[in-house]
Amino acid sequence: MTDFNAKYSMTIAGREAGAKGTLPVFNPATGKIIAQVPDADELQLNEAVAAARTAFATWRLAPLAERAAGLNRIGEIIELNAPALMSLLTQEQGKPRAGAEWEIMGSAIWCREIAKQSLVEEVVEDSTERRVVTRFSPLGVVGGIIPWNFPILLAIWKIAPALMTGNCIIVKPSPFTPLCTLKLGELCRDAVPPGVFSVITGGDELGQWMTAHNGIDKIAFTGSTETGKHVMRSAAGTLKRLTLELGGNDPAIVLPDVDAKSIAPQLFWAAFQNSAQFCNSTKRLYVHESVYDEVLGELVAFAKTVKVGDGAQPDTQLGPIQNLPQYNKVLEYIDDCRRNGHRFALGGDVDPRATGWFVPVTLIDNPPEDSRIVTEEPFGPILPLLKWRDEDDVIARANDTPYGLGASVWGKDLTAVERIGSQLDAGTVWLNEIHQYSPHQAFGGHKQSGFGCENSLHGLMEYTNWHTITLKKKAQAL
Ligand code: NAD
Repeated sequence: MTDFNAKYSMTIAGREAGAKGTLPVFNPATGKIIAQVPDADELQLNEAVAAARTAFATWRLAPLAERAAGLNRIGEIIELNAPALMSLLTQEQGKPRAGAEWEIMGSAIWCREIAKQSLVEEVVEDSTERRVVTRFSPLGVVGGIIPWNFPILLAIWKIAPALMTGNCIIVKPSPFTPLCTLKLGELCRDAVPPGVFSVITGGDELGQWMTAHNGIDKIAFTGSTETGKHVMRSAAGTLKRLTLELGGNDPAIVLPDVDAKSIAPQLFWAAFQNSAQFCNSTKRLYVHESVYDEVLGELVAFAKTVKVGDGAQPDTQLGPIQNLPQYNKVLEYIDDCRRNGHRFALGGDVDPRATGWFVPVTLIDNPPEDSRIVTEEPFGPILPLLKWRDEDDVIARANDTPYGLGASVWGKDLTAVERIGSQLDAGTVWLNEIHQYSPHQAFGGHKQSGFGCENSLHGLMEYTNWHTITLKKKAQAL
């Protein structure tokens, strides 16, 4: 176990690294500064890239078993330090204990499971004439750029496949949630050779420098669609490989045959888990008109039982909004609903004198389909419920969005559930469940929710080049 004191340093070339400047990190439950972290400049980025390029020369040749052992060590380190990492995650991100445990223990599981994966080379031809083989070779140096909602798990989703395929990776956490990632870098300095896994921290411009850097071959990015477009533009200069996991406006469709009382808790958590700061939160809840009033009533009743507060308190179920700009953004959606006369079935009243960035669970009753709360991604605990009558119409409404990350369908009639689900244009469609992820299950967005995927062998492949070798066997005049 490492002492989790208040000192944070970057990890470059397997060693501690600081910076001239620092950035403050806040506890969102109190609004108070809890740490200062290095604010790296371009020189430090260059050092990290140079160390990664040096390390790549040998790491790419390391046998698969050695790379798997490195990744397993990272998983073990996470597990050994889980209690301290969980409490640090709650402090910097705001999420309550259960969510922190899910994320930290999930990260360890991901390391172990991805360590079992490998890409088998394809023998295309093996005749007396010729042998043709397509292999998967590593890309080089990967830049991992991470958001603030699941800082550790989403970093591991990039570190694990990068390392297994023989790449080196430099991870840049969000400036809002850098602490656990810096600690992870520090704890893992001896887990893999120096330069294979580095962590650097700084503001948004550090991310921008990474996307333009000549020495970085791929950007694995999770964040908003708007930033994803900047990343793509900036990466075009060097034709970097990209995986973009972006925003979502996930619909959930509720059929007429549900039991309102028993489904309400599931629908609630589908929307409000992690205080709705979740790419795959249900962000539009389409309920059949015949059960609409009942479902709304049960959701309101259930929501009133959920405890919102400081994630460090053991009985808290929903924490604060993670940062001040996001808090102000969520308040803007509440104001917009009020200005436009939408009916609040619950919530909407924010206490301006409260310490910390808390927004109450807010339910908006059947706002117009073209309202901002329906068409945009608020990324906070405010959910519109919408009525539907006709199946084709609700499918069209659910798909009428530039996003395509996730969707869900809920009902007892499994034929109808599957029929509707198969027509929803999203990377993951959950039927009668939600938020089931696996290291072996491809995850990614359609449309402006991004491209490429994470997890599974498809995700692993994103960290490789096709490398086709053809050998003419018959000797001839050369
Ligand atoms: P963001 O886009 O503001 O920031 C994400 C990361 O990009 C941060 O590390 C930030 O410092 C960096 N960044 C900012 N500007 C940059 C630039 N010009 N070039 C390079 N990097 C830059 O996103 P956020 O507010 O941290 O996260 C919330 C968003 O992330 C939501 O839209 C959410 O839906 C999305 N998200 C998507 C997934 C997914 O898997 N699809 C998962 C989680 C979150």
